[in-house]
Amino acid sequence: AYDLQLTNVYKTYDNGTPAVIDFNLDVEKGEFIAFLGPSGCGKSTTLRMISGFETVTSGDLMIRGKRVNDQLPEKRPTSMIFQNYALFPHMNVRQNVLFGLEVKKMPRDEANRKVDQILEKLGLSSIADMPTSRLSGGQRQRIALARSLVVEPDILLLDEPLGALDANLRKSIQNELKLLQRDLGITFVFVTHAQSEALALSDRIVVMNAGRVEQVSPPRELYTRP
Ligand code: ADP
Ligand code: ADP
Repeated sequence: AYDLQLTNVYKTYDNGTPAVIDFNLDVEKGEFIAFLGPSGCGKSTTLRMISGFETVTSGDLMIRGKRVNDQLPEKRPTSMIFQNYALFPHMNVRQNVLFGLEVKKMPRDEANRKVDQILEKLGLSSIADMPTSRLSGGQRQRIALARSLVVEPDILLLDEPLGALDANLRKSIQNELKLLQRDLGITFVFVTHAQSEALALSDRIVVMNAGRVEQVSPPRELYTRP
């Protein structure tokens, strides 16, 4: 059974831009997939269709065997992380992570317990009461990760999450992502324009260009033009 399937998926924006053209991909549970390609090739659009933030123009989008084309984002078992973290600066770490659960209307006690668990897992317990505005880029990205994981998604979607970090931090968050993949067994879909990131992280790389998928291959078989 596949976790995620895109079959003949197209996206044409209202202004006529053909952003994604005949995208086909079957993703197994627990796989780490990277969408790799230059700016404007359709990576983010594809990710936003999977999350439900953008509509699918035509084709089938299936999550765990269920067609989700018309399902609202909050009903999908997906969670999204953005490059700019999108944290609330006036709230502390715990409140930011709790926010991920508030849309789910989970009882307070249970929500607090889940927040504590994920803060512990990501090494954030000691800064739980600090406002996020006082924290470093690496810490903020870890908080964004905690907020996405606390809802226990089947599929974690990451849109250039390492772009704003320096080289050392990028390396350490990369390692953390690989550990989480092993530990949690959830599916990762990771958008990047950096080949080195795709090579370091993914089980398979989806190379995109001008809205189309050019190749899908494991890192060691990646074909690059001379
Ligand atoms: P990225 O390449 O990381 O997707 P962009 O700078 O291309 O980022 O886009 C940033 C935002 O602007 C996105 O929300 C995207 O949907 C929107 N956007 C990009 N191109 C257009 C366009 N031609 N018309 C309208 N909105 C656009
Ligand atoms: P990438 O993530 O690979 O940088 P995008 O998915 O952001 O690419 O963009 C794919 C194409 O769709 C680009 O030509 C971009 O300008 C266009 N685009 C993105 N968002 C919008 C939007 N909201 N409205 C119109 N065109 C858009």
